[in-house]
Parts: sequence; C-alpha cells; structure tokens
Amino acid sequence: MTGLTGTADVLIAGAGIVGAACAWELAKAHLRVAVVDQSFPASGATGAAMGHIVVMDDSEAQFALTRYSQTLWDELRDDLPANVEFDRCGTIWVATDEAELAEVRRKSAYYCERAVPTEILDSAALQNAEPSLLAPLAGGLLVPGDSVVYPAAAAAYFLERAAALGAKLHLGKRITKLGQGTTRLEDGTTLEAGKLINASGQLAAKLTPGIQVKPRKGHLVITDRYPGTVHHQLVELGYLKSAHSVATDSVAFNVQPRKTSQLLIGSSRQYGVEHDKVEPVILSRMLQRAFEYIPKLRALSAIRVWTGFRPATPDKLPLIGPCLEDPTLYLATGHEGLGITTSLATAKLMAAQILNSAPKIPMEPYLPSRQMVADVHA
Ligand SMILES: Cc1cc2nc3c(=O)[nH]c(=O)nc-3n(C[C@H](O)[C@H](O)[C@H](O)COP(=O)(O)OP(=O)(O)OC[C@H]3O[C@@H](n4cnc5c(N)ncnc54)[C@H](O)[C@@H]3O)c2cc1C
Repeated sequence: MTGLTGTADVLIAGAGIVGAACAWELAKAHLRVAVVDQSFPASGATGAAMGHIVVMDDSEAQFALTRYSQTLWDELRDDLPANVEFDRCGTIWVATDEAELAEVRRKSAYYCERAVPTEILDSAALQNAEPSLLAPLAGGLLVPGDSVVYPAAAAAYFLERAAALGAKLHLGKRITKLGQGTTRLEDGTTLEAGKLINASGQLAAKLTPGIQVKPRKGHLVITDRYPGTVHHQLVELGYLKSAHSVATDSVAFNVQPRKTSQLLIGSSRQYGVEHDKVEPVILSRMLQRAFEYIPKLRALSAIRVWTGFRPATPDKLPLIGPCLEDPTLYLATGHEGLGITTSLATAKLMAAQILNSAPKIPMEPYLPSRQMVADVHA
C-alpha cells in the first residue's frame, strides 16, 4: 500500500459507530489510526439510536449492505461484552389489512430468494407471538435473524479494540478543516495523515462541502422495566411509507424490547428541523401511533424522551469511498436510519478501498462519485 504518511496512516473524523468500526477494522490491518471527535464517542446519532440490526429491501444495494453487515454482527456476537446487549429477538413486520398482507408476501418472497429465513404469521399466530398487540390484526412477517444492540456500548467496544491495537483517540477536539492530508482543529493544532475519513455523521457536509448529507430528526421514548410486554422488534409495514416520505414529517409504530426489560418506542422522521428539542406535537403523534397497535402502552411509565439526527442522503444509500477531488479524503457517512446495522460492512468496504483489496460485496452503489454524476445531470 502506498500514500500513507504523516502522524497517522489514517485519521478518522468522528467517533460514532461508523468511525469506531472503521478505526477497529483499519487498526486490525496494522495501520496507524487516529480518531478525532468534537465531543465523546457516540455523542451523535449513535447515542440516540434504537440499535435494530435489520435486513432491509428498499433496493438491491440496501439489501446487500444490510445483509452483509448483519452477518458480520452475528460473527461478532460471542465476543461482544454483555453491555452491548446483543439480542437475536427477530423482527415482526406487522400488517393491519389485506394490502399490508400482500406486502408481507412480497417481502417474504424477496427474502426467501436471497436465503433470508422468514415466517408468515396469520392473525392467530401474530397474536400468539405478541399477545400485547391489538387483536385481531391481519398478520405479519417474522424475520428471526434480526437483532438488537445497545449502540453506544458497541461503539465504545469497537474503539476500545482499536485503541488496544494502537489507535489514538483525540476527544473534545473540533475539526474545522479536513482535506489534502491535513486536519485542522479548532485549537489551532494540525494533524497530518496519509488518508482522511469523514465519518462525522449528519455534520459531514460541513467538513466536506458539496456532498449531499442532510440531518433527519427522530424522537425516541424509553419506558421503565416491564418484562415480557413485547418479545420481538415490532414495526408497522407503514414504516416503509414513513421512511420514504421526504416532503412531510412522519411517524410510525416501531417498538423494541431491551434486554433490561425496558421498551424503546419510536419513531419519527423530520427534515428541516435543526434544533434538538423534543417536540410535543411529534412526540404525541408518535405515541398515539404506538398506542393504536399496543393499547396497554398507555399505562406504562416513560422515563426518558430524546431526539437525534440521522445522516440522510437523497438516494437512501450511504457514501462509502473516496472523494474525487482529493485523493487523501474518503467519506463514510449518510447511513440515515441504518448506520448501526451497516457500520461493520461500511468498515470492511472502507478497508478494502484503502488497502486496495477485494471487497465481499460490490462497492459501486455506495461510492460518493454517484452524487457528483447526479450533480452534473441535475
Ligand atoms: C432516533 C434514531 C433511531 C435510530 N435507530 C436505528 C436503528 O434502530 N438501527 C440502525 O441501524 N440505525 C439507527 N439509526 C441511525 C444511526 O443512529 C445512524 O445511522 C448512525 O449512528 C450514524 O453513525 P455515524 O458514526 O455516521 O454518526 P454519528 O453517530 O452522528 O457520529 C458522528 C460523530 O462525528 C462527530 N463530529 C461531527 N462533526 C465533527 C467535527 N467537526 N469535528 C470532530 N468531530 C465531529 C460527532 O461528535 C459524532 O460523535 C437511528 C438514528 C436515530 C436518530
């Protein structure tokens, strides 16, 4: 490998789960890695996320990345410390009517063709699997291979492993300029590195102007401990409409059982809101949606409500790879609502590009150059 110079071979801007996973992967390859964050690890979207490790089928490229990454999480599972709370609880996509049941059948066929196990649940089987759900509902699709982790602990673990291999962490240091092998910090310090990775999440466009990554706000609620209320991650099939809606604020039923017996209740999606305050109107809509599916949630105590910003791209795929104008600069951002799931695959693809080795899945769909091509044609 050539072109790595300076105080580090690779400097990563951002200690969220994406930067942390890249740091570990590159440190495993014996590179000198530095990670810089303006705050503390997982202080961005990672610390605000649900931690659903989920295979998705919006596009072939999304499927390939989520499936690959889920496999990597599964391979890691026995090594993860207990505080990462890895739980193979599976997902149930809940259908309320015949149209959503048709979507259950389509999704099942798609996954089946690609060797992802699923089980179609009729109304009675759904009720049996999740007695707290409103009854009767039309049915659902169980995807037993999906899981749940505690994202902040996972990011901390990846960084700990990277540090054990020699990676240096620079926390509480805001980067003001990133490019041409140089990182300038707010305190005036300059750090040199052969390669730079912009993994600064929803703030990535501030460090690399011109890329299309926008913040997409989300709210979450966590309850007190209620063992046995819900057994799988439960998501309404309408969630897909919410995730796709770009024009309006949207909410969807999305409830996750934690290993602590708490329930995480989501989710909302908003563009164009920059403040991180909890918004009562959105929160109330989100909870109403959850109550429609699980009426007994009304009686539970919530202990915390918060917001976070997903790093969203226009085509719903992350940016993983080199920046055309600057041979030292790479992007690892734009993972929207799937960055916890896809962090490990992102790190593998990033390492393959930096080390010039063969990736396990084609990396073309995620290359940042596609945005530049789109710009030319816009
Ligand atoms: C409500 C919500 C629920 C979610 N649920 C899920 C889920 O269930 N499953 C899933 O897969 N994904 C989920 N996500 C998405 C996931 O959280 C993100 O895709 C992922 O965390 C992005 O990680 P990241 O490392 O790119 O960004 P971040 O975690 O935001 O990390 C970026 C880091 O860069 C640092 N930084 C930024 N600018 C600078 C600078 N100038 N100088 C130095 N440091 C800087 C920040 O401090 C931050 O620590 C959810 C997100 C939200 C908001």
